[in-house]
This record gives sequence, C-alpha cells and structure tokens, in this order.
Amino acid sequence: MPSLDHLLATEAAAGRECAGCNVCCELPVVIELAKPARTRCSHLGGCLCQIYTERPKSCRAFNCLWLRGVLDLALENRPDHSGVLLDAYVRQPGNETRIVATEAWSGAADLPQTRQTLESLAAIATVIVYYRDGRQSTITSQERGDAVAPRVE
Ligand code: SF4
Ligand code: SF4
Repeated sequence: MPSLDHLLATEAAAGRECAGCNVCCELPVVIELAKPARTRCSHLGGCLCQIYTERPKSCRAFNCLWLRGVLDLALENRPDHSGVLLDAYVRQPGNETRIVATEAWSGAADLPQTRQTLESLAAIATVIVYYRDGRQSTITSQERGDAVAPRVE
C-alpha cells in the first residue's frame, strides 16, 4: 500500500517509461497552451510531442501515478492500456489529499481490476472518478488504513 508521501512524490519511478503512452497529452488541461481537457494536444504528432524540448512547464512537471510507481508496474496499469489516468493533489482549504481518476474511454473505470485498484487506493485518500460520459463519483473508505468496504457516492 503506498503512503501519502508516495502519492504526492512527483518524480518518475526508476525503470518506468511513458514509451508509447500519451494519455496525459489528451485528458488534462494544459494552461500554457489553452488546451482544454479531453482534447488531443495540437503538438502531438503520432505518439510523440513535436515540441518536446520546449514543452510547457506543466507538461514537464506531470507524471501520473503509474509513472510515479504508485501502481503496480504491469503494463495493463499504464493509462494507455487501463484507460484511466490517475493523479493526486492536495485540496485546499483543508489540506486533504485526493486522487483523481479520469477515464480515457467509456467503461474503463468500471473494469474489475481497475475498480479494485481504485477501491484499494481509497483506503489512503478519497478517489474522485471522472467518467467519459461526464458522470462523476467519489470513492471513500470510512476508516482509512482498515480493510473496510469503500463507500461509493
Ligand atoms: S499518462 Fe502517465 S505513462 Fe502516460 S504519458 Fe502521461 S505520464 Fe507517461
Ligand atoms: S506540449 Fe507536448 S507534452 Fe505537452 S500536452 Fe502537448 S504533446 Fe503533450
């Protein structure tokens, strides 16, 4: 089980590479480029960033939870295979760590293995799931750290 510190550590884990994945070039907002969420970046050529050496600061800073080593190394957990991009942030006010799970394609967040991953992460921090169709759900564990059934709102 990863710790809160591990959730928020931004560096890529040793031995992990984005390789052919570019999910974070589509799903998140890139403020510097005025790129909206869920829109393929105009600088993406095939699987590669065409302005890699000059890419914006937010692109340089972003590493998803798979790349940070929070999720198991298995390739099926990488966002281009799982269909779910995971990130964590500290919500203010309140200083509460939250995990954000964003679907790249419909149904991905409900696949049994992914659901299991999200529910186990909910033991560490509240998980907000953003579905492809615009729905949103929250997965929490009422007693963090304990093996209790997650509550889904
Ligand atoms: S979603 Fe993760 S693995 Fe995929 S390109 Fe972005 S940081 Fe790399
Ligand atoms: S600028 Fe490059 S790294 Fe940033 S979102 Fe676009 S393609 Fe991806």
